[in-house]
Amino acid sequence: MKKISLLGSTGSIGRQSLEVVETLGCEVAVLTANRNIELLEIQCRKFRPRLAVCMDSEAAETLKIKLADTDIKVMSGMEGLMEAALWDGVDIVLTAVMGMVGLRPTLAALKKGRRVALANKETLVCAGELVMEAAERYGGEILPVDSEHSAIFQSLQGCGNRGEVKRLILTASGGPFFGKKREELEKVTVKEALRHPNWSMGAKITVDSATMMNKGLEVIEAMRLYAMPLEKISVVIHRESIIHSLVEYCDNAILAQLGTADMRLPIQYALTWPERVPGPATPLDLLTCPHLTFFAPDEENFPCLALANEAAKEGGTATAILNGANEAAVAAFLAGRIGFMDIPRRVEKALKAVP
Ligand code: NDP
Ligand code: MG
Repeated sequence: MKKISLLGSTGSIGRQSLEVVETLGCEVAVLTANRNIELLEIQCRKFRPRLAVCMDSEAAETLKIKLADTDIKVMSGMEGLMEAALWDGVDIVLTAVMGMVGLRPTLAALKKGRRVALANKETLVCAGELVMEAAERYGGEILPVDSEHSAIFQSLQGCGNRGEVKRLILTASGGPFFGKKREELEKVTVKEALRHPNWSMGAKITVDSATMMNKGLEVIEAMRLYAMPLEKISVVIHRESIIHSLVEYCDNAILAQLGTADMRLPIQYALTWPERVPGPATPLDLLTCPHLTFFAPDEENFPCLALANEAAKEGGTATAILNGANEAAVAAFLAGRIGFMDIPRRVEKALKAVP
């Protein structure tokens, strides 16, 4: 029975992780959130962790009062998140927080030689080299939770020599605005951007999927995780989200992982690898699933993918600037302060302005 520390338990990945954890019968040692104390309290009463953390200090104070009848320790802020990553006796740290706030706890867990199940892709985009180096040096491990990277990881099982890999192919759903032109995209609303055709996810990643920045971040994530140069990673639009990504080998064999659009499978694989066990993910019925289609990405109308590629080519801090600018721009879009196409404009401006 594994002991888990779950960072970001109240989010989309966090809630689905708890479903998986419950089926697997893992012990939950730590739960963290930002401000959603209503849900965090329910989760604490159900899973009985030893530590609960709220990033927000006021929320932490209220949670302390709510949990006064239990022996659960409550902490706040980055200090709390670091404690969550380093909590004694934990086998796996699952990081499902949103944004680059996940970087320090992930690094800390890896430096302690821990296994990290990583959903928080922004961490690898900001500081992938540092993170991979820390894992290598201190004997930590990173297991991908992002569905595309899990599909690649699954398709790489049994591959002893990475030199045999010709190309990683990331699939992208294309989001809610597939086929739209720039003029139409200037006018789309927050509500429309949050209506993803296949996946139900947190607001930030849903907007990233609509701009295609999500795929740009994932290209950088794949470069870091699998030590692949940019030229060996390509993106294909696959509207049905059934093939979750593919690996092309030097003999032209292509291996892929297929399944329903259900994050519980990649979450579970990151927790049970190298084993497979029955789990809660919805099975795929090949006879009733839609026909599989493929298109080239449209970089003309969706400039975020090209911006991410440019930052990846530049290297150094460029990907951190890309990610920071994108986090700020998406927050401004969600708050109604800027338009949808201002997101790539702001990211481009930041990439040009900051050396
Ligand atoms: P959500 O917004 O649904 O959840 C985010 C979680 O992080 C919540 O628990 C939230 O707490 C917490 N959180 C938010 N801001 C902070 C902060 N500043 N400090 C500490 N904790 C914070 O996001 P998702 O679950 O959708 O995504 C989480 C990560 O997983 C992201 O990096 C995303 O890119 C990645 N991912 C998500 C997928 C998905 O299907 N959702 C698929 C692949 C990757 P609170 O509830 O209190 O706000
Ligand atoms: Mg993904």
